[in-house]
Amino acid sequence: MDQPLSIKSLQGATTTLSAEALGAFRAGFRGTLLRAGDAAYEASRAIWNGMIDRRPALIACCTGTADVVRAVQFARKEGLAVSVRGGGHNIAGLSLCDQGMVIDLGAMKGVWVDGEQRTVRAQAGCTLGDVDRETQLHGLAAILGFVSTTGIAGLTVGGGFGYLTRKYGWTCDNVVSMEVVTAAGEVVIASADSHPDLFWALRGGGGNFGVVTSFEYRLYPVGPEILVGAIAWRADAAPEVLRHYR
Ligand SMILES: Cc1cc2nc3c(=O)[nH]c(=O)nc-3n(C[C@H](O)[C@H](O)[C@H](O)COP(=O)(O)OP(=O)(O)OC[C@H]3O[C@@H](n4cnc5c(N)ncnc54)[C@H](O)[C@@H]3O)c2cc1C
Repeated sequence: MDQPLSIKSLQGATTTLSAEALGAFRAGFRGTLLRAGDAAYEASRAIWNGMIDRRPALIACCTGTADVVRAVQFARKEGLAVSVRGGGHNIAGLSLCDQGMVIDLGAMKGVWVDGEQRTVRAQAGCTLGDVDRETQLHGLAAILGFVSTTGIAGLTVGGGFGYLTRKYGWTCDNVVSMEVVTAAGEVVIASADSHPDLFWALRGGGGNFGVVTSFEYRLYPVGPEILVGAIAWRADAAPEVLRHYR
C-alpha cells in the first residue's frame, strides 16, 4: 500500500500525492517507482557529478515508451515538477529535480542496427558504449562523443561532438528521426518530414522539448580495427611546422 507523498509542483510549491493517486499510477506502470527509503533510491539519484546532491520525491524508472507516456500524463494531471534523465552525465545535474519527479530512461537500452541501410535505432537510456558495441559488429559507427559512459540522449539533444565530427559533422547532424513523447503525452516521430519544427529544436536545443524515447542515427564505415596516433615533430622544427599549419 502506498503512503501519501510530498512533492514539488510545477509552480514550485509543495503538494501532496494521495495514496490512491500513487497506487493508480503504479498499477499502470511496468517499471519501478522509487521514493526515499526504497533500497534502490540512493543509487538511482547518483549521477556522474558526485557534487550534485538532489533528492527527487519520486523516480519513475521506465521500461519503454508506454511507461514514459504514463509518467508524463501522471505529472501533467498532478501538476508536478519533472526532470528527464538519460545517462546522468550533465555536469550541472539537470537530470535530477529536487523534490520533484524524475523520468528515468536508464533501463531503456535497446539497439537495432540496419547494416544495409547503415542506420541504427537506439533507445534513450543507451550510453555511447552501448551503441558502439552493436554497430561495431557491422564495422559501422554513429557520430557520438569521446567517453563511452556518456548518455546518447543528453549528448544528442545538446548537439554532440566526438572523434568523427571533423569528418562527418555533429551528432545532431546525423540524426534521421526521433521518437518523442510530447508534454501532452502523445507519441510522435520527429524527422525532416514529420514535425520538422520539433526535429529542429531537438537537434541542439537541449531538454524541455519533449521526452525522446529513441534516436535513429546514420552510420559510417569505421573499424572494427582502426589506426590512431599523435604526430610529433622535434621542437627545432616548430617554425616550419607552424608556418605550414597556419
Ligand atoms: C565524462 C564526460 C564526457 C563527455 N564527453 C562529451 C563528448 O565527447 N561530446 C559531447 O558532445 N559531450 C560530452 N559530454 C557532455 C555530455 O554530452 C552532456 O553532459 C550530456 O548532457 C550528457 O547526456 P546524458 O544523457 O548522460 O545526460 P543527462 O544528465 O541524463 O541529461 C542531460 C540533459 O538532457 C536532458 N535529457 C536527457 N535525456 C533526455 C531525453 N530522453 N529526452 C529529452 N531530454 C533529455 C536532461 O533533462 C538534461 O537536461 C561529456 C560529459 C561528461 C561528464
